[in-house]
Amino acid sequence: ESLSPAALQSILDDIAAAMAQRSDRGQPASYIPELGRVSPQHFGIALCLPGGQTLLAGEATTRFSIQSISKVFTLAIALGRLGDDLWQRVGREPSGAAFNSIVSLEHDQGIPRNPFINAGAIAVTDAILEGLQPRDVLAELLRFLRVAAGDEDIHIDKTVAASERAHAHRNTALAEFMAAHGNLRNPAALTIGTYCHQCAVEMTCVQLARAGRFLAGLPAAPRLVSPARVRRINALMLTCGHYDASGDFAYRVGLPGKSGVGGGILAIAPGRASIAVWSPGLDAQGNSRLGAEAMEHLARATGWSVFG
Ligand code: GLU
Repeated sequence: ESLSPAALQSILDDIAAAMAQRSDRGQPASYIPELGRVSPQHFGIALCLPGGQTLLAGEATTRFSIQSISKVFTLAIALGRLGDDLWQRVGREPSGAAFNSIVSLEHDQGIPRNPFINAGAIAVTDAILEGLQPRDVLAELLRFLRVAAGDEDIHIDKTVAASERAHAHRNTALAEFMAAHGNLRNPAALTIGTYCHQCAVEMTCVQLARAGRFLAGLPAAPRLVSPARVRRINALMLTCGHYDASGDFAYRVGLPGKSGVGGGILAIAPGRASIAVWSPGLDAQGNSRLGAEAMEHLARATGWSVFG
């Protein structure tokens, strides 16, 4: 029943070849000017298997801005640090609203719906920043990513961080709104500065797929998080990982996944593979258009949907 690495490689090659033909790619995010400069022509995909192999196709060793995919890793760090106390500050329900929506914050007294929408991720970053300096938090995130990927060459793109920070009015508004409800522990500027830098981590598909191995429970992965917590992070990725398109991604792909406005998606096939794809053109919900299609193709070809 399990596909050989050679069979999987030919599936990846087919996907990369099909994507190279496409002209309907969507546009890169432009509200962060530095991301708007990236060509929508790029496409890369990588996956890691239980046997320790990493397979790749397309531009899988080109760095891109992981953006909101960083929220998976800061969540893992925050749960390790605060445990279930974190859930006093952020919920676990899909929002059904856009990634940067402020609407539900008003309904829910400053408690964001989940850790993957911007407001929730800002609350998570604020929680791990408490008592520390931004550079300590960013160093911890980089350490986590480097250990997870088994690769020291993972860094923050300072130009992207500065570009987002200069246009962070909306995220600052989310932070200030939470502060008004007593749900922020640091000055908004400090939390937002940290958040903009965490989103500006740049990684390749290969690095990202390797960094996700612990979520797939692959034997070669470093044990960073307990299996019980891994299951819960996967549940949140499945239900909340693609903003108001999370249901659509679950329907089409059937795997826990997290997208970022840099055009990356990390998806987890528990016990089978950790998969990263990158294509900078986005759909209306801010998710990679071809990235989601590539995941859909892969899930169909492998039968890896968690729903059987
Ligand atoms: N840094 C981005 C923002 O806060 C992340 C959004 C995303 O990747 O979806 O706007």
